Amino acid sequence: MPKIGMLYLCTGKYTVFWPEFYASFEKNFLPGCEKEYFVFTDAETIPGQDCPRVHRITQEAYDWPYSTLRRFSIFLTQEKALAGCDFLFFFNANLVCEKTVTAEEFLPRPEKGENLLLVQQPGFWDKKPIFYSYDRNPKSTAYIPYNCGRDYVSGGLNGGTAAAFLALCHELERRTEDDLARGVIALWHDESQLNRYAAERSDYRLLTPAYWYPEGWDLPFEAKIVVRDKARYFDVAAVKHKDARPQSWLARKWGAFRENWLPYLWYARDALLHKTLQGGDAQ
Ligand code: UDP
Repeated sequence: MPKIGMLYLCTGKYTVFWPEFYASFEKNFLPGCEKEYFVFTDAETIPGQDCPRVHRITQEAYDWPYSTLRRFSIFLTQEKALAGCDFLFFFNANLVCEKTVTAEEFLPRPEKGENLLLVQQPGFWDKKPIFYSYDRNPKSTAYIPYNCGRDYVSGGLNGGTAAAFLALCHELERRTEDDLARGVIALWHDESQLNRYAAERSDYRLLTPAYWYPEGWDLPFEAKIVVRDKARYFDVAAVKHKDARPQSWLARKWGAFRENWLPYLWYARDALLHKTLQGGDAQ
């Protein structure tokens, strides 16, 4: 029976999601496996903390985006305990396991060369790589040119064998701090870092958005792990210091053009220049 380390980060407003996450994953996720929860939180108490398999780890509430960006350093504060698990998985706070998810369908299979577990991001599973929301800034360690990359994976659910996932944490912590020292923050924070890491390798099991199914979406997959809409629980724009005002007509048109047409041009440029993953300024 493999031992699964469940990594869960909930500081500030995100603590609201823990009770439903915990109850649903206890009930439906990897039945028959021993699950140990590592909950990084600034909440003084959390439901379930009396259970010996639930470890509440005091974590200061960083401001956005450090609350998500610095997750690799946060996990590594518990490296010794995490190394005692067979597999480690990180879950965004707002996930709910709605249907039974078995070890066979979910765990990476090292005997087949799969050390990591990644999940297709539902916004991109049916799109071409030039349209992926990779970090295209050559100054970032997460940079991916338009002629590279295969998959676009979710930053909110990923993992692997303990050794592979801890190696990932060390490398992405190093890259994140390297960026910060040069005043750079990857486009989608940890998710951009994870996508660059995935683009460099193929030793992962890739699951469909059935395991990352945003509530209210209509996707051709059976929803097994559902992503709660955070806006139903708190003011997301306020947490992320974002301007929630609607964009002007011109700004929307320009955004659509940049998203749907400019990638063809950038692809032609990067292909002609034979760009590689090693081609960024930060490499
Ligand atoms: N998070 C947190 N506190 C915060 C912001 C983020 O604990 O104030 C953690 C939480 O686990 C959350 C994850 O970082 O699920 C990613 O943040 P978010 O879900 O807002 O990112 P997005 O959905 O935009 O990728």
